[in-house]
Amino acid sequence: MAKHPTPKRKLAKSAGRRRYSSFQYKTRKKLDNKVSLTKCTNCSEPRLTHHACPNCGFYRGRQVLDLSSKLKKKIVTKVSA
Ligand SMILES: [Zn+2]
Repeated sequence: MAKHPTPKRKLAKSAGRRRYSSFQYKTRKKLDNKVSLTKCTNCSEPRLTHHACPNCGFYRGRQVLDLSSKLKKKIVTKVSA
């Protein structure tokens, strides 16, 4: 006798694939829900919740990231190069 429970008969390819596809669908749906995007209140660009806006540097209605200094540096390097 077998030690473990064994399947009574062979499973059709389609049955296995059907089961796997439902698993795949569920997992994909879960992962999709993990990332939640909202619109920025300042520039209405999509941004991650509880994160400062990468476009304008605003978070909860005030400037938290100074993006102007980065911009200036980029311009300077471009001119000198
Ligand atoms: Zn923004």
